[in-house]
Amino acid sequence: MADTGTNLPGSDLSENYEDWRRQFATDRLVVLYYLGLVANPVFIAADVLLHREYLSSLLEIRAVLELGFLFSFLMLKQRVVLFTPNVLLALWILIGNLCIAQMTVILGGFTAQYYSGLNLVFLAAAVIVPISWPTHLAAQLGTLLYYFGANFLHPQTPAGLDAAIENSFFLVWTCVAVLFSVNLYERLQRAEFQARVSERRISRQLEASNRKLLELDRLKSEFFANISHELRTPLTLSLGALKTLQNSSLNPECGQLVQSGLRNTSRLLFLINELLDLAKFDSGRAELRKRCMDLASLVRGIAADFESSQKNRVHLEGVSEPVLAEVDSRQMKKVLYNLFSNAFKFNDLEKGRVWVRLSADEDRINIAIEDNGIGIPRDQLERIFDRFTQVEASATRRYEGSGIGLALVKEIVTLHGGSISVESTLGSGSTFTITLPRGRASPDEMIGIEDEEVIVLPSFRETQQESTRPITTLPTSGGDQPLVLVADDNADMRSYLERVLSREFRIALAVDGAEALEQARASHPDLILTDVMMPRMSGDDLLKAVREDRKLRSIPVVFLTARAGTEARVESLEAGADDYVAKPFDENELLARVRNLIGQRAQERELVQLQKEKIARFLPPHLADMILAGDRDDFLKGHRVEITVLFIDLRGFTAFAESAEPEVLMAILREYQAEMGSLISEYGGTLERFAGDAMMVFFNDPVPVPDHAEQAVRMAIVMRDRSADLRAKWTARAINLGVGIGIATGYASLGVIGFEGRKDYAAIGPVTNLAARLCGEAQHGQILISGRILELVESLVSTEAVGPLTLKGFQQPVVAYNVNGLRPLKDCGSTT
Ligand code: ADP
Repeated sequence: MADTGTNLPGSDLSENYEDWRRQFATDRLVVLYYLGLVANPVFIAADVLLHREYLSSLLEIRAVLELGFLFSFLMLKQRVVLFTPNVLLALWILIGNLCIAQMTVILGGFTAQYYSGLNLVFLAAAVIVPISWPTHLAAQLGTLLYYFGANFLHPQTPAGLDAAIENSFFLVWTCVAVLFSVNLYERLQRAEFQARVSERRISRQLEASNRKLLELDRLKSEFFANISHELRTPLTLSLGALKTLQNSSLNPECGQLVQSGLRNTSRLLFLINELLDLAKFDSGRAELRKRCMDLASLVRGIAADFESSQKNRVHLEGVSEPVLAEVDSRQMKKVLYNLFSNAFKFNDLEKGRVWVRLSADEDRINIAIEDNGIGIPRDQLERIFDRFTQVEASATRRYEGSGIGLALVKEIVTLHGGSISVESTLGSGSTFTITLPRGRASPDEMIGIEDEEVIVLPSFRETQQESTRPITTLPTSGGDQPLVLVADDNADMRSYLERVLSREFRIALAVDGAEALEQARASHPDLILTDVMMPRMSGDDLLKAVREDRKLRSIPVVFLTARAGTEARVESLEAGADDYVAKPFDENELLARVRNLIGQRAQERELVQLQKEKIARFLPPHLADMILAGDRDDFLKGHRVEITVLFIDLRGFTAFAESAEPEVLMAILREYQAEMGSLISEYGGTLERFAGDAMMVFFNDPVPVPDHAEQAVRMAIVMRDRSADLRAKWTARAINLGVGIGIATGYASLGVIGFEGRKDYAAIGPVTNLAARLCGEAQHGQILISGRILELVESLVSTEAVGPLTLKGFQQPVVAYNVNGLRPLKDCGSTT
């Protein structure tokens, strides 16, 4: 489809399509008319060769034809209103075909071969101007009417009639084919037109938003530059004030505060300067003040700033002779400071080394800065020169930084016409290589290194030293104050928080989430106040770990974060933090929040303790704990486990109960239960229930007990010894009571049974029945154990077989074993 470039997209698509189509048709009609005007005279050759006898008549007709074409063509060119493209198309077909039909009349009617010209005209019109099938149809009807009408007006021979029929077939089907093709082509054209219109519309919208974005970007850069500039003034003044204070005589505490203020204000100024520089590059306002200078002396000077007094950390090569280059010295300082500080920042504090190699040829200078630091993953090498890019994930990043430095370095180097590249091996170190053109460097024009101040991040050394300071727990005034654990990777922030909070609390400090977790496990603080973005373990991960730890989960956790706004607050609270404080914060507000949370948690603890005491009166303590913790619901619902069940009850109790006073009975029971009860918890068993004089004890559930059968038997032996003492006392008071014990081990289903309002923890399985029956069979002083227990404790105790016993609930008689006592240590023989 030809694109005429007319006013395409608009609100009304169809109207525009019509415009476009009109123009398209006009263009094609010009071609069609040219063709007609040329073809007509060419056919005179055929007239001369084949029909010389009718030549004059034929020439007359051709003259009319040519004039007709010429007239219409003029109308087309003049764009006469009446002669629309459709009219001109119909005219072309009709003028051509009526003349051809008239020639066939002269040349013998239907048998005349010139009739083929009609088909030719139909086809040429349809191929060149494929629009408006009704126009084609009208012209075709006119043609057929004239051709058949004019020829039938003359008498026809039989051959002529045959030819008429034959010709009519060809003519009609040519017309039908032409009409279909024009119609289809037109539909295709319309669809294509609409697609193109949508495409254009989208591309215009894209262009518009692109323009808008560029404009926004420009405004942003401008705003950035302005605001950064505004920020620099107060910051510079603050720095000045702090520097003056630093030089005055201050007490050590104030001295430290001033140092911290100085460090952090310089850091802020450094960041703002970097942002300002970037904004300048963005707005195209960055200009170089290139002068000839000695790069070797610049490298030496900067290296000296980074060298520490005790260590030989910087190694220089190629700097003994001057290396002249035409560069902007202030910008080059920034480049080198950035690369040096990265080389040390992403490195070990003790073992970190940097090698600088300066080399030059006629045109170019290379500066390679190599370190033996942490290295950069291969897949990140491309990205690190992008703005705001840091290798580690932001929430757990280990090193401070903004991700601007290398982007700025690259901009400066590129503006000098140079390039920067990096090679790195993860874990071994990185080498950044800058290549710069020497420019017009001449010793006569050389300047000294300008003393213009490039504010260096003052903190990277100090911060690292600070942050590796061992964790301290400071029991500030009074040992009974609540303990607050503070986790923050920024040393200044840690000491600030310490200063604020130590007015009311004891403080423990941690440099990151991992240390905080360790600290929390060791000292179980009353509250954890944590930064979110920290190395090794972020605040989020610390919170997760605290919540997953049964012992720590109730400690309130407060996030301290630089992210302000409702969204950050909601995120923190949703993550499970108890509170959220945004930096910068008000000291009193922080204190109040911490105080409230600690108070609240203390009340909750008291409440839980009260509940626990109440519940523990009726349930085994482990179960009470578990129920209060509320985290073992599945466990309480049911599980299957191998347990050892011990049953103990008093022999002769029924007879005694019948004759004794209830008070005496109660006193005897209490004495016996207190004596046995203390042993149960000592051996890790769980007293499942009292039933009169009987007690049922579980081993290995709900508290896991390794060697549960052995523990149960050991306890039973001690119980028997104690009961012997009790019996001696009772006998002295003429009370005849003894103690029998039964023990069995096996699988049972355990869990809470009962109904709302009255629940119990129970074991379901033959093992409880067996233990109860064995206990029933045991005489005073006997400990009857099942065969399965014997297998487990055979080497521990000596036993004797009892039975076979017929026990209720067991189809086969059961052989039980009475435990005589513990074997001497070396005795590993068989049962006696
Ligand atoms: P910043 O140091 O402020 O984070 P930079 O643009 O200077 O930002 O560096 C971008 C990132 O490239 C750094 O965060 C660090 O992950 C990585 N990087 C830069 N220099 C080194 C280096 N010498 N060794 C290891 N990693 C580096």
